[in-house]
Amino acid sequence: MSQVIKSVCVYCGASTGASPTFLKIATDVGRALGENGIRLIYGGGGIGLMGAVADATLAAGGQVVGVIPEHLQQAELGHRGLTELKIVDSMHTRKRMMFDLSQAFIVLPGGMGTLDETFEIITWRQLGMHDKPIILVNHDDYWDPFLDLVDHVIDNGFARSATRQLFSVVGSVGRLLDMLEGEPQTREPSYPERI
Ligand code: AMP
Repeated sequence: MSQVIKSVCVYCGASTGASPTFLKIATDVGRALGENGIRLIYGGGGIGLMGAVADATLAAGGQVVGVIPEHLQQAELGHRGLTELKIVDSMHTRKRMMFDLSQAFIVLPGGMGTLDETFEIITWRQLGMHDKPIILVNHDDYWDPFLDLVDHVIDNGFARSATRQLFSVVGSVGRLLDMLEGEPQTREPSYPERI
C-alpha cells in the first residue's frame, strides 16, 4: 500500500452475532481506528457491530461518517452522535458514497448485507474500477467458509487464481493496523499462503 490510509470503510453486521467476541472485535477495531487518526466510514446505523464500531471510534476521539438511506433510518437506528450522518436516497447511493469516501475497506463478521458489500467491492476491483485495499478480519475463523467458497469457485474454473490477490486476510487488529500503515504484507500470512 503506497499511501497513508486516513479514511477506511468498515463493512459489518447490523446484528451483534451469537457470541460476545464479535462485539469485542468490532469495538477493538473501532478503537484502533480512532486512536490512530483513521476516519471511519460506515453504514450509519446505531445497532449491532455497526453501532459498536462507530461508538468505539468516537470514544477514542476519532471521526465517523455514516451513510444511511432514508428508509433505513428507523430500522437501523441512524446513529445520532456521529461526526456526520449523510442521509441518501437509496442503497446504491449509499454504497457508492461509502466507496468514494474511503481509501480502503475492512470486513468484519456480518450477514447478507456484509456479504453483498464485500463481494461487490471485490468484483469492482476485479473489473479494474479501483485498486483500494480490501482486508478481511478473520476473527475466530469467521470468514473461513467465505475463503473456501472463493477457492471452490476458482477450482471449478469460474475465476482465476489471481482473484485471491484482490483481498487480504488478517487475524488480529495489530495486523490490520500494520496493513493500513503500509507495512510489508509478508508479516501476515495472506490468503494465498493461508493453506
Ligand atoms: P448485515 O450484514 O445483513 O447485518 O447488514 C449490514 C449492513 O449492510 C446493513 O447496514 C444493511 O443495511 C446493509 N445492506 C444490506 N443489504 C444490502 C445491500 N444489498 N446493499 C448494500 N447494503 C446492504
